[in-house]
Amino acid sequence: MTLIREKDSKRLHIKSRLMGESLVGKSFLEGLGAAPQTRLFPDVNILKVGGQSICDRGAKALPAILDEIAKNRDRHKMLITTGGGTRSRHIYAIGLELGMPTGILAKFGNSISEQNALLVTMLLAPYGGMKIGHDDIVKLPNYLAEGGIPITHGMPPYDYFALPPAKGRIPIHRTDVGTIVLADLIGAQSCIFIKDERGLYTDDPKKNPHAEFIPEIGAKTLIDRDYEDLIVERPCLEILQNSKVLDRIQIINGLEKGNITRALDGEHVGTMIYRE
Ligand code: ADP
Ligand code: MG
Repeated sequence: MTLIREKDSKRLHIKSRLMGESLVGKSFLEGLGAAPQTRLFPDVNILKVGGQSICDRGAKALPAILDEIAKNRDRHKMLITTGGGTRSRHIYAIGLELGMPTGILAKFGNSISEQNALLVTMLLAPYGGMKIGHDDIVKLPNYLAEGGIPITHGMPPYDYFALPPAKGRIPIHRTDVGTIVLADLIGAQSCIFIKDERGLYTDDPKKNPHAEFIPEIGAKTLIDRDYEDLIVERPCLEILQNSKVLDRIQIINGLEKGNITRALDGEHVGTMIYRE
């Protein structure tokens, strides 16, 4: 490494392409080439078990879904994340009423998705379920080599530093976002959201009986359509669109037996949202 001392300001630099740059210069960033992003664990599938959509249904939904996940353990490497669901919504409502900032609400959400990770882990324990923290992601090969099914909470660890959104104070980066960010981080084979509807519709099918099913759509097209409501958190679309390693996410109905297996096998069930 060459050290360089600026003549006037006496600033000390280590010679590199980023030397002396603010790192926010527009043309600098555009011209900055870099090696393609390494896909760390390209054979691992990430599956999010929904909070409100799945975990909160308890015995009516979870055992069958976890059974299907367990049955795929020998054929597919999987990392499971969990949503928060109804209890997150409850504490968000109380927090909002009492003036809590976004960072406190995000911290609440984190601990509730962790409760669901603990629950899912205990139910999967006979099949190698292991609860891991975000720091343990680097040890994925160890867990998978042992035939384990690692499970982590889906809430991204922004916690007190969660970005205050443009509108309101509910954190916009919740467990769908945590899941897709993880998928980007590891360069996952697939990123599958297990929820309680067939996939994406033009509106919430629980509220609008005229909502039409969308089997596949580009992320940018979907952003531009600016639908009233979505089945995944809105920032997921931009994260997918900007990803260098993910080219799609898939949303499936986990209440229909067989869908998880079909999605893991690469079949088009539910909705595919593509990077455009
Ligand atoms: P999770 O618990 O997995 O995070 P959510 O309950 O937050 O799931 O989101 C899934 C729900 O989103 C669906 O059950 C559905 O009622 C609702 N939803 C809202 N908008 C749409 C849409 N455009 N298409 C499909 N579902 C939608
Ligand atoms: Mg949700």
